[in-house]
Amino acid sequence: MSLKFHVIPVTPFAQNCSILWCDQTQRAAVVDAGGDLELIENALATRNLTLEKLLLTHGHIDHAGAAAELAASHAVPIEGPQREDAFWLDQLPQQGTMFGFRQVPALTPDRWLEQGDSVTVGEQTLQVLHCPGHTPGHVVFYSEPAALLIAGDVLFQGSIGRTDFPMGNHAQLLNAIHDKLFTLPNATTVVTGHGPLTTLGDEKRSNPFLADARYR
Ligand SMILES: [Zn+2]
Repeated sequence: MSLKFHVIPVTPFAQNCSILWCDQTQRAAVVDAGGDLELIENALATRNLTLEKLLLTHGHIDHAGAAAELAASHAVPIEGPQREDAFWLDQLPQQGTMFGFRQVPALTPDRWLEQGDSVTVGEQTLQVLHCPGHTPGHVVFYSEPAALLIAGDVLFQGSIGRTDFPMGNHAQLLNAIHDKLFTLPNATTVVTGHGPLTTLGDEKRSNPFLADARYR
């Protein structure tokens, strides 16, 4: 049995929403249901998956904008992010207005996540790593057996997350990537929050934001 994934770019920001599922139970989690619910619902249905829960990396509208609606329609819980992102989730209505989303309610997850927590999808387990800097409560999800990292807006192919938002912190973000992500195996596939997938090895080698030799 193993953990499978499928990436669906959603919202005008082309945010990489991920469906994770356990191929033994066909139970699934949707990570960062930002919008375009019909695309997400179709991807679940065509694979005959049962939605078990939603996971959130952080509280930005393109990642969390449709989470409350999807969770309510399937009567499933929302897990994550870490609670320091509560102010972003409280501001989802204002974020929605600013960026032209439909009416988006504020959201409180059923479970806040912390560094060292784990989350389950069917029979599979992923580790939670708290990686603040882009937002203070940003978490990422890691499966060692699947060699898979769902990185949200922490790390991109050739780039890193913006840190010019309220409570953003560039040094904190670099430290999180260095200490918590670059210590994982090079062959790990990284599902980034936007744009192409990458691997940790590729980013260690060539990401200009982490080019300092200390990070290799
Ligand atoms: Zn973001």
